[in-house]
Amino acid sequence: MAKFFVPIDRDSVKHAMVDPADVRYTGTHPAGPPTTTMTIEFIPQSVPHDVDTAVHMAAQEVVHWLRNARNSVVQRTNVSGMYGSPRHRPLTPGMVPPMPNPMPTIEMQIAVDPLITDMRAFHDDIDQYLQSKKMLLVRSQIDQTVPQATAYAYTGPSVKPSYDYEETTVECEGCGAEFVHTKLKRESATWPQSDGSEKEVESETVCPKCGYWDCCEVEYEKYGG
Ligand SMILES: [Zn+2]
Repeated sequence: MAKFFVPIDRDSVKHAMVDPADVRYTGTHPAGPPTTTMTIEFIPQSVPHDVDTAVHMAAQEVVHWLRNARNSVVQRTNVSGMYGSPRHRPLTPGMVPPMPNPMPTIEMQIAVDPLITDMRAFHDDIDQYLQSKKMLLVRSQIDQTVPQATAYAYTGPSVKPSYDYEETTVECEGCGAEFVHTKLKRESATWPQSDGSEKEVESETVCPKCGYWDCCEVEYEKYGG
């Protein structure tokens, strides 16, 4: 049986538009830079009579220096040991006053400038600054928060192009007629079997002139293959 190859008409290929609503993106966004905080605890060494004011001013001075000179923001300040001071801080009614501590300590949590990467040097830097202001660094602690990367994947409809085939001349094996492949007919029939049952048979290459079944063999080009 003669075999005919039917190529895809290159000019007819159309890629279907994808509805953006059908496209889903989840992503793997790279993890951002780690956030570093340093918590320092320090004691103003020369405490005048008005301890509250002195501590407040000392804390403000450190906050300003960190922000303006080191681009690092103090997120939280906690002052402890103030209750022994001459200017007594008012307590919530019913609250038991803690034991007096003559040395108020100031604790600060600092969001460290991302450009500062050497924490040992930053610690020494702060230590030197505090010493120059007659304050004593008693503790420092570094915490790092590393952002997690989020995974993503593209999901969407698979885009299958539509296309036509080039009209290709084929020849019928039965009558010898030549015609373009689109004229080939498809027919089906019920065929009786020897056991009395019936079988559905069909041909996609029926001659349009003489009705010959499987009048030729046609191979259609596969897209992308
Ligand atoms: Zn024919």
